[in-house]
Amino acid sequence: MNETVSRKIQRAAEVAAANAVDVDAKARFPTESMEALRADGLLGLLSAEEMGGLGLGFGDAARAVEQIARECASTAMVLTMHYAGTAVIEKLGPTVVRKEIAAGRHLTTLAFSESGSRSHFWAPVSSARKVANGIQLDAQKSFATSASQADSYVWSSRPLGGEGASTLWLVRRDTPGIQPGRYQGLGLRGNDSAPVRAEAAVIPADAMLGADGSGFDTMMGIVLPLFNLCNAACSVGLTEGALGRAIAHASSTRHQHLDSSLADLPTIRAYLARARIQADSARTLWQDSIAALESGRADTMLRVLQVKAAANETAISVTSECMRVSGGAAYRPDVGLERYFRDARAGFVMAPTSDQLYDFIGKAICGLPLF
Ligand SMILES: Cc1cc2nc3c(=O)[nH]c(=O)nc-3n(C[C@H](O)[C@H](O)[C@H](O)COP(=O)(O)OP(=O)(O)OC[C@H]3O[C@@H](n4cnc5c(N)ncnc54)[C@H](O)[C@@H]3O)c2cc1C
Repeated sequence: MNETVSRKIQRAAEVAAANAVDVDAKARFPTESMEALRADGLLGLLSAEEMGGLGLGFGDAARAVEQIARECASTAMVLTMHYAGTAVIEKLGPTVVRKEIAAGRHLTTLAFSESGSRSHFWAPVSSARKVANGIQLDAQKSFATSASQADSYVWSSRPLGGEGASTLWLVRRDTPGIQPGRYQGLGLRGNDSAPVRAEAAVIPADAMLGADGSGFDTMMGIVLPLFNLCNAACSVGLTEGALGRAIAHASSTRHQHLDSSLADLPTIRAYLARARIQADSARTLWQDSIAALESGRADTMLRVLQVKAAANETAISVTSECMRVSGGAAYRPDVGLERYFRDARAGFVMAPTSDQLYDFIGKAICGLPLF
């Protein structure tokens, strides 16, 4: 990534920082930071240069997400899901949508999770069937980030008729019969994650992404590496944001009667030290995972599985320690820690969840098939 792109990401991170508290408090979409990302071409970071995009790779996408997540994890997750959808559309989608994404005129996301198969995102139970004027989708998607804001969803269903676990579709949000819902979550309150229902929604037959029945291969080959690296980047970034605030709080908060700061207490310093070790360990694994992917190392898939679990668990653990060292003050939204504590909970329940990843990693290191 060159310096100009880094500066643009930094600018968007500053806009995200200025609005993060309001976005969280009102559980509203992070419009300002998304506009900053759009205006600087960062929504087209993964789009090919011939489409008008920046033509950068998965590692750079993850680096951008990490920088934003230090300030606003909601924005970072919206960006993560946009990049995940974009990666599929870049490979299998129509030129017109690729150009819209490159120009920042199209926000996309993934709609994989369903009420029927829950976190087993690779196994949709929803249907797609041929009708006279196209393909009819009926589904109850349990969560999609940017549910009411995205222009399109990269959507999974059972195959039309072919073999395989799933087929992917590019579904426009304004398709009649597509109904995004709404709920307010514990954390990531700005990312507009909500159920999306499809009721007799008819899409064009050419909206299929790849061959009928090939969804599983696309999920594993394209989505999983990018999603896991960027989801881990959200956790690595928000961990850094929380720890920085906790250290600043411990250094600046005084016990007047003792003429000392919180950081003068060895107990507080030890908690911060352990949190720093955990944060740096997760960051180092994340950087090594990017290096593995960028150089095509043989252990790339293992790293891709490991990095999300490690970064998500670290975010939960470090943000908890940050709350502890900051005492009652941490309960106050204006101190800026409880938002990170709540936001940290989302990453590890996003599929593949930590527990699923432990199972996959265990299978991989024991030489067993993952599925
Ligand atoms: C903020 C947020 C944003 C999201 N955005 C999107 C999105 O954009 N697109 C999308 O498709 N989905 C999205 N999701 C959904 C997400 O990816 C998961 O599918 C969902 O959170 C799983 O929740 P569940 O209650 O259905 O889990 P369940 O499947 O009911 O799991 C419950 C528990 O069982 C464990 N478990 C399940 N299976 C196994 C197993 N085989 N081995 C071990 N443990 C297991 C899980 O780890 C979990 O702890 C989002 C979720 C959240 C919270």
